Amino acid sequence: MNAQQLSIRLMKVAAHVQADAVVADIGSDHAYLPCHLLHNGGAVRAVAGEIVKGPYESAKKQVQAEGLEDKITVRLAPGLEAIEPSDGITAVTIAGMGGSLIASILEEGKDRLKGVERLILQPNVHAQAIRLWAVENGWQTVAEEILKEKDKIYEILVLEPSEEKVELDAKQLLFGPELLKQQNDVFKEKWQREAAQWKAIAERLENTTQTEDIRTKKEQLLEKIALMEEVFADENS
Ligand code: SAM
Repeated sequence: MNAQQLSIRLMKVAAHVQADAVVADIGSDHAYLPCHLLHNGGAVRAVAGEIVKGPYESAKKQVQAEGLEDKITVRLAPGLEAIEPSDGITAVTIAGMGGSLIASILEEGKDRLKGVERLILQPNVHAQAIRLWAVENGWQTVAEEILKEKDKIYEILVLEPSEEKVELDAKQLLFGPELLKQQNDVFKEKWQREAAQWKAIAERLENTTQTEDIRTKKEQLLEKIALMEEVFADENS
């Protein structure tokens, strides 16, 4: 992967950035995503934020090598602290991390989201944590995608601010309100894989000493299995 040849995953993230956006890519590593956006008219300016020195140096080198220093600012900072009010950021991308980490980055830095029109988030796992954060913080889902690359399955969530609180039910939180409507083959494969794991864990828990904790974990797994069975039953009816 490089700035010209992005992974399919990052290409799909890039496609959701508004062409006139000033974008902050948080956890930018080599800054491939902002470089790609700037080279291809996918955004007008960018900030690449990184918390770790090594990836931050890589991002700086990449931006320099691409001749984009006047358009992309690289900052060493945790989460949304990479954004300064004078940047005028209108879109934030956060890709390639767990959903819980993405949600905590958003929660800790939410005062920096003023003026942001769109969040494009690509959790590797546990997208539900982001959906919960979105409901609590006045963001609505405008698009979702699910894709498979090199046998890994990824979700992309596109959120925009909403005037009213948009509630999601348990199924929408777990599976994604838009993905539930589409239910494509990758969606089915993801949840079949997950269900197989949940069932195996639930079985192991059944054969362990039944403490309060174990019982709660087992109940949570059984609830998720029941939700999944409902979703697939709806689809077959
Ligand atoms: N976004 C790129 C992608 O999707 O290919 C890189 C993903 S890489 C797996 C995750 C990057 O996020 C790492 O470079 C890591 O140092 C950075 N990171 C993790 N937590 C962060 C945080 N709180 N703030 C900024 N960067 C963070």
